[in-house]
Amino acid sequence: MATVYDVLIVGAGFAGLTIAERLCTRHGLRCLLVERRRHIGGNAYDHLDDHGVRIHAYGPHYFRTNSDRVVEYLSQFTAWHPVQYRVKSFTDGRYWSFPINLETFEQFIGRPATSEEMEAWLAEHRVPIDQPANSEEIIVSQVGWELYEKFFRGYTLKQWKRHPRDLSPSVCGRIPIRTTRDDRYLREKFQALPAAGYTALFDRMVAACGDALTLMLDTDYREIAPNTDFRHLVYTGPIDEFYDYAFGDLPYRSLRFEKEGFTPGQLAERQPISGKAGFWQPAMQVNYPNDEDFTRIVEIKHATGQDCDNTTIVREYPHDYTRGREPYYPVPSPDAEAIYEKYRSLAAVGTLPEVFTAGGISRAGVNASFVGRLATYRYYNMDQVIALALEKAEQIGEMSRPKGLTT
Ligand code: FAD
Ligand code: UDP
Repeated sequence: MATVYDVLIVGAGFAGLTIAERLCTRHGLRCLLVERRRHIGGNAYDHLDDHGVRIHAYGPHYFRTNSDRVVEYLSQFTAWHPVQYRVKSFTDGRYWSFPINLETFEQFIGRPATSEEMEAWLAEHRVPIDQPANSEEIIVSQVGWELYEKFFRGYTLKQWKRHPRDLSPSVCGRIPIRTTRDDRYLREKFQALPAAGYTALFDRMVAACGDALTLMLDTDYREIAPNTDFRHLVYTGPIDEFYDYAFGDLPYRSLRFEKEGFTPGQLAERQPISGKAGFWQPAMQVNYPNDEDFTRIVEIKHATGQDCDNTTIVREYPHDYTRGREPYYPVPSPDAEAIYEKYRSLAAVGTLPEVFTAGGISRAGVNASFVGRLATYRYYNMDQVIALALEKAEQIGEMSRPKGLTT
């Protein structure tokens, strides 16, 4: 007789893995986790490349959070390598301190300055806007037009292929602006990477599940959905795809990553620029707001602290999204939100698409949860996804308690 799973989980990113781990270990539920890529971890997956350098396969993933609960949860599966994430911006032929801080201001005016001077300058140049309604307004209301145009306008146009005016204020608003010398890219109190990398952390989450978890890689859920018996569905993939694009395609931005590896011999020549033996550029990430087709070059070895003579840089090119490409970024904008709202309403009713009923298994009483960046169409960071997944796992666990999800 075919196995009856308590929960079918689609997608083995942070959302799917967190829910699987909780349901298997805390709630004694039997889960089937299906992932269409050949590896677990979703976009946070990392690995050693051909040069022996640990790289983040789908763009840099800087773990940061204000949530003690999330740190406590993940600490069961990893030790931490504390990092001060530092980024520079390259424009007008030079590196700038970034995000905008007192040093950026000094570079801008060409002489040393104080915080008070910078505050006075900003007070004179910022555009008074009470409630910034888009990404242009949130930046010009803090720093004025000149700095906005130097660091934000071009980068945002390249990244999103939309004007900052057509993006929610949260997009550019996530970049801090300071009048001190604090040049950390992020604001959160906890900033660290899993000491042995993300994939080691994910492997431990899976191992914790033991026999309660069945993991299928390289499998689209649609291949197994008709003939798989389960009581609850957790879906973490794109919500428009799940409903067969019934309300049209949601907009996403995709990316193309171009990797380049360097040996110590090649790096020796770069040392005047990188400032440090064994590195290609002076910081973990350099943003290119204006002059190049790529948005940033990431040299993650700065952050991982890996002891390795070689290094790898990754140039990140924004790319239009079409079906079949990776939908890396939901687009935080009012027009996209209106489409998402239609899908959300459908999901709230709990209707399962036809693929689940094609095999003739009764789906009476089966309900579905939508969790994660793609299923809820939110520009979430990892910690936000984990916090929501922990909450969702608790709800599913509670629901299963009185009579059990399996009969
Ligand atoms: P994902 O990681 O996307 O996982 C979803 C999984 O579902 C995927 O593995 C996918 O293959 C699978 N799937 C989809 N459809 C199907 C199907 N039909 N069948 C089977 N499997 C399916 N966050 C940070 O906190 N810090 C950062 O620095 C950071 N940088 C980022 C940089 C980039 C370039 C990107 C794209 C994201 C970044 N993020 C960062 C966000 C972070 O990636 C997400 O918050 C997190 O990975 C979301 O986890 P998730 O499980 O919701 O989604
Ligand atoms: N941004 C910008 N200039 C920069 C860095 C960021 O205009 O040098 C804007 C851009 O719109 C970007 C957003 O701020 O998408 C958020 O930047 P972040 O570095 O957090 O992007 P992510 O790592 O999520 O791609």
